[in-house]
Amino acid sequence: MQLLSIIVPCYNEEQAIPVFYHEIKKTMEEFHKEFPDTEYELIFIDDGSKDGTLSCIKELRQSDPLVRYVSFSRNFGKEAGIFAGLENAGGDHVVIMDVDLQDPPALLPEMYRAVTKEGYDSAATRRVTRKGEPPIRSFFARCFYRLINRLSETEIVDGARDYRIMSRKMVDAVLSMRESNRFTKGIYGWVGFRTKWLEYENVERVAGETKWSFWKLLLYSIDGIVAFSTKPLAIAAMLGLFFTFMAFVMIIFIIVRKLVFGDPTSGWPSMVCIVLFIGGIQLFCMGVMGEYLSKAYIETKKRPIYIERESSNEADHTDPVSE
Ligand code: UDP
Ligand code: MG
Repeated sequence: MQLLSIIVPCYNEEQAIPVFYHEIKKTMEEFHKEFPDTEYELIFIDDGSKDGTLSCIKELRQSDPLVRYVSFSRNFGKEAGIFAGLENAGGDHVVIMDVDLQDPPALLPEMYRAVTKEGYDSAATRRVTRKGEPPIRSFFARCFYRLINRLSETEIVDGARDYRIMSRKMVDAVLSMRESNRFTKGIYGWVGFRTKWLEYENVERVAGETKWSFWKLLLYSIDGIVAFSTKPLAIAAMLGLFFTFMAFVMIIFIIVRKLVFGDPTSGWPSMVCIVLFIGGIQLFCMGVMGEYLSKAYIETKKRPIYIERESSNEADHTDPVSE
């Protein structure tokens, strides 16, 4: 018997959960016909939701022993949710799926085939369109992927979703990376393994709304770059060298001009511009350094990635309703 763990991170998703549950049950019935030797478990991660998400999940668990859950003490973010899911998953294969059905469950059999029959360690999905998304957001997303791939040695695939199935080996590899600044798209690239990419058209959310504001995405992208590249530091150093060289050229120019034309006072406006410009560059470079320093500071504290408030693991001992 093989076990497939399905991890579903949820944050304020009381509307989406019933729709998702209905859909996944349907998919898994079909799935079971093709893979009769595979059992599955559904692990919901309640990421400190403020609405009825947790009670919704508990209700499902009352009637369905395949449902498990972990509930956080507060909102830790989706990356922490994924980590908790991986830690709690007991499956030989693990799949991460959004609750809003933007990760079509219908792709699951094909993904499972890739890791069980075709010799891949992982099957991941990427959306080839960004239909239904504001164009400005798509534009910045594309710029971000171009930039991070230039800066980082680790390959980060444009349009890659978190919807991915992994073998036990790969899950253990991901879990062995215990950094708190978790940019999972980079972590998958970093651990390597053979990955099959499946492409699909973007699907819009079934219910509720996205948790990502433009500002949050921007900060997230900076975290991603800092987590997977130190080139911005090298660029800062190079800028410094370049401006030192320029200053040297300017000094020679001014000395020569003074000797030839004897005009020491002109050029104040241009000097103000130069001072401001270089001051700006300096502050920018210090900011870049600060960003790395702050990340190093956070990492040295070795804080836990998430804190559990309750989970079905403990409920098993106390709750007579569950099996
Ligand atoms: N999510 C989470 N914690 C958060 C934000 C989101 O667990 O702090 C979950 C959310 O419930 C959903 C998934 O992550 O299942 C993707 O979130 P969302 O649909 O808002 O992101 P998008 O699809 O717009 O990128
Ligand atoms: Mg979504």
